[in-house]
Amino acid sequence: MGAQYKTAVVCGGGGFIGGHFVADLLSRGIKVRVVDVKPMNEWYQVHPEAENVVADLNLKDACFAAVKGQEVVYNLACNMGGMGFIENNKGLCMISVLINTHLLMAARELGGVKKFFYASSACVYNGDKQKDKSVELFLKEEDAYPALPEDGYGWEKLFSERMCRHFREDYKIPGRVARFHNVYGPLGTFEGGREKAPAAMCRKVIEAKLSGKHEIEIWGDGKQTRSFMYITDCLKGIHMITDSDTFWEPINLGSAEGVTINTLVDIVEDIAGIKLKRNYNLDAPKGVAGRNSDNTLINKVFGWEPNTKLRDGMEKTYKWIYDQMAGRPQYRKASPALAGAH
Ligand code: NAD
Repeated sequence: MGAQYKTAVVCGGGGFIGGHFVADLLSRGIKVRVVDVKPMNEWYQVHPEAENVVADLNLKDACFAAVKGQEVVYNLACNMGGMGFIENNKGLCMISVLINTHLLMAARELGGVKKFFYASSACVYNGDKQKDKSVELFLKEEDAYPALPEDGYGWEKLFSERMCRHFREDYKIPGRVARFHNVYGPLGTFEGGREKAPAAMCRKVIEAKLSGKHEIEIWGDGKQTRSFMYITDCLKGIHMITDSDTFWEPINLGSAEGVTINTLVDIVEDIAGIKLKRNYNLDAPKGVAGRNSDNTLINKVFGWEPNTKLRDGMEKTYKWIYDQMAGRPQYRKASPALAGAH
C-alpha cells in the first residue's frame, strides 16, 4: 500500500485472506481497523495491534461505523466457501450484496475515502465459456459478459462489481476490483465444508497417511481444471491494483498455472510420499469443467502476474495442515510412528 495512506479498514478481516492482509498492512505501518461478523475466537488470525471489531456488515449502520475515518476500504467480506458451500447456499451468498452496497454508500456519504477495493471472483465468468475441460481454457476479463455467472455467489460478485463501477462514475468513489482465482495457503480452512480443493486435498491425503487407510475420495472425475494462487501473490496483487491511480476496471488476479484436480492430487501425494487409491464421487458438487486465469491484462498494466509455483505453495500449505492434524489424538493412536514426520 502506498505510503500516502495511513488508515485502512479490512472488512472480512477475520477471514482467510483478510487475516493475512491485515498482517501485511500492519507490517507496513498502516493503522488498521478489522471488521468481521464472526466471534473473534473464530477469526483465522487476530492481530492485537489492530482495532478489531465484531459487527454484521450486512447492516448499514455497521458499514458506516466501519468506514468512518478510514482512507482505504478493503471489502473482503462475504459468505463463501468451496463448491460444496456455494452450490447449496445461493441465497446466503447473494445477501452479501448488502455488504458492498452499504460500504459504498458509507464511502459516498462520509467522504474521505481515497480507495475502495472490492474482492470479486472468477465465479463472475460466463458458465457457457467454461464447458471445455482443456487446461488451456483461459478466461479474459471480457468473458464475464454476456452475463451468465455462477448462480448465487457469482451473481452477487458481478452485481457488486457494477456497483463499484457506477459509484466510481457517478460519485467519484475510486473503486478497484480484482477477480481472484482460487486462493490457497497456510492458516486457511481445511475441513468443515467451506474448504477449497488445495486444502481439501491436503487434508484427505494427510488423513490417509495418518490413518493408514490409503484411499482418497475425489469430487467429480478429477479432470476438471483450475488454477490456484498462493496467498502471498494475492496480497501483492491487492496492493498493486488498489494503489493504481490509472487503472480501475475489474482485472484477473490469479495464477495461470492450470492443473486438473488429478494433477493436484499427484502433487500432494508426491509431497506426502504416498500413493492412494482414488475413488471418484461423480455426484458431488464439482463446479465448472475448466477455468484458468488469462493474465494478459495484468501483465500489460502492472508488468507482473502471480507466479508462485503450485508445488512450492502446496508444500507450505501441506506442512501447515499436517502440523494442525498430526497432533490429534485419533492419529497419534492410529499411527504413533508417523506423528511429526512429513
Ligand atoms: P473467508 O470466508 O475466509 O472470509 C470472508 C470473511 O467475511 C469471513 O471471515 C466472514 O465471517 C466475513 N463475513 C461474511 N459475512 C459478513 C458480514 N455480514 N459482516 C462482516 N463480515 C462478514 O473468505 P476468503 O477466502 O478470505 O475470501 C475473501 C474474499 O475474497 C471474499 O470476498 C471472497 O469472495 C473473495 N474470493 C476468495 C477466493 C478464494 O479462493 N479464497 C476466490 C475468489 C474470491
